[in-house]
Amino acid sequence: MRILVTGGAGFIGSHLIDRLMVDGHEVICLDNFYTGSKRNILKWLDHPYFECIRHDITEPIRLEVDQIYHLACPASPIHYQFNPVKTIKTNVLGTLNMLGLAKRIKARFLLASTSEVYGDPEVHPQSEDYRGNVNPIGIRSCYDEGKRVAETLAFDYHRQGGLEIRVARIFNTYGSRMLENDGRVVSNFVVQALRNNALTVYGDGSQTRSFCYVYDLVEGLMRLMNGEHTGPINLGNPDEYTILELAEAVQKMVNPDAKLSFKPLPEDDPRRRRPDITRAKNLLDWQPTIPLEEGLKMTIEDFRDRLNSTPENHMASL
Ligand code: NAD
Ligand code: UDP
Repeated sequence: MRILVTGGAGFIGSHLIDRLMVDGHEVICLDNFYTGSKRNILKWLDHPYFECIRHDITEPIRLEVDQIYHLACPASPIHYQFNPVKTIKTNVLGTLNMLGLAKRIKARFLLASTSEVYGDPEVHPQSEDYRGNVNPIGIRSCYDEGKRVAETLAFDYHRQGGLEIRVARIFNTYGSRMLENDGRVVSNFVVQALRNNALTVYGDGSQTRSFCYVYDLVEGLMRLMNGEHTGPINLGNPDEYTILELAEAVQKMVNPDAKLSFKPLPEDDPRRRRPDITRAKNLLDWQPTIPLEEGLKMTIEDFRDRLNSTPENHMASL
């Protein structure tokens, strides 16, 4: 099959591309490199079945593909809040452009939505029926409401135009290739511990998240795309940890001497988050297989290699 991955040079997108390429598909990666990097897809650049196009999805594009995985959008709060109007445009105009493309060429379209559509949830754990508690005018809204509109658009194209859609609600995902300056909690803690800096815990660290390793997530996305169910389907790891527990786990694994530094909790930071993955289990026969400790180990190794690598030995390793 010929498959388009928007946001393919990013963290999840590049892991997805690895799987699609290994499975023998022709892959087109579309990315404006805002938070993505050529380094993530470097090994495919000369492959005859791979093509990378620098393109901003807020502008239309014409391509011929069978499936579209639509991932393009900055995912870390510091990056999506840096230019919130651009984030909204990416989610709304960008998704509209990609849905228009899918409709014209009759491609199946998978939207990478998010647990943020549940906002600061009043229901725990979150199942797909829960409609969420989102602040429409807060600092996270450009992303949360943007993704909610993206879901609306996908379902309207499905109902009105018969487009085949798949909607994944992705919960916190981590792993190798996250940016050093990504700003999300796992990468921050690992990089801080490796550099012997204090781990920055926001608030008192009692808020919770559930962390899914990127390999598991990619498997879930591919099952959703190739299965029969439109979704929305939650994809995430239901093992829930407080942020303080995560900090302590990273401390223990990387640097027991690293200190904790408590910082103010950002506005609208969700108190608790854990996916109910009953639907994914029943409909996709999917559940995560990589426990936090194992995933952290792989993430730590990846960051260790990258932080130790000078431009010279990086070039030598290619
Ligand atoms: P990422 O920031 O690493 O990847 C996003 C990619 O999209 C980057 O390569 C970036 O350059 C590209 N991009 C951004 N705006 C673009 C635009 N206007 N045009 C073209 N390309 C653009 O983030 P990620 O963690 O890989 O997330 C991928 C997708 O998964 C996002 O849609 C995100 O909302 C969703 N998601 C991720 C998580 C997570 O925990 N990682 C959780 C929920 C949802
Ligand atoms: N967080 C933290 N220290 C950091 C980065 C994040 O304590 O250096 C907290 C953040 O306040 C939130 C949780 O970790 O409660 C997850 O944050 P992240 O940005 O990774 O994802 P999201 O809030 O979008 O789930």
